[in-house]
Amino acid sequence: MNFLEERIQRDGIVKEGNVLKVDTFLNHQMDIGLFRQMGEEWKRRFAGTPINKILTIEASGIGIACIASEYFDVPVVFAKKSKSVNLDGGMYVAEVESFTHKCKNQVIVSKKFLGPEDRVLIIDDFLANGYALQGMISIVSQAGATVAGIGIAIEKGFQPGGRTIRNLGYHLESLAIVEDMDAETGKIWFQEQNENAG
Ligand code: 5GP
Repeated sequence: MNFLEERIQRDGIVKEGNVLKVDTFLNHQMDIGLFRQMGEEWKRRFAGTPINKILTIEASGIGIACIASEYFDVPVVFAKKSKSVNLDGGMYVAEVESFTHKCKNQVIVSKKFLGPEDRVLIIDDFLANGYALQGMISIVSQAGATVAGIGIAIEKGFQPGGRTIRNLGYHLESLAIVEDMDAETGKIWFQEQNENAG
């Protein structure tokens, strides 16, 4: 098991409805030492890929993206959730259905911060059905920019997002892939990672 899988095994809590709670170290209280290991690992996995910007989505992506940016030495832009409908044309807009809150949000990124010259690494905490990623991919494509890679902390491999995104041809690196989990026993199984992940 790698460092993140070990931490999930130790501190993650399996909830009903396919929800994995990791709020003691990832998306409420944040373990910055762990975030550094994640940043280092993404840097290793995307070595040789030109990247000049990181894109994430509020709220839980922001912390990990900021620490990762220290390893890539690039700015971080986050897609903002917006309720307002009268957007002034200065924004890229995508609609994202929230896995955890079961509602739809518009997410926006100002046109000032993404353009055709950008090679973007998309970062997020979870990949479940892939809606958040599809929204961010849409924003990158509206900007005429390139998705250089996608870094996810925890992919739930039993949900379809990962397969969909890989089938679209993106270079997706998930640091931990949960193969299955059981709310009754609290057990979590991980997919073996076939390469020499640290
Ligand atoms: P997707 O859009 O891929 O269906 O879901 C990804 C988003 O939903 C992530 O940004 C994350 O915030 C949230 N999410 C999905 N599954 C889980 C989960 O099992 N636990 C937690 N804490 N968040 C999740």
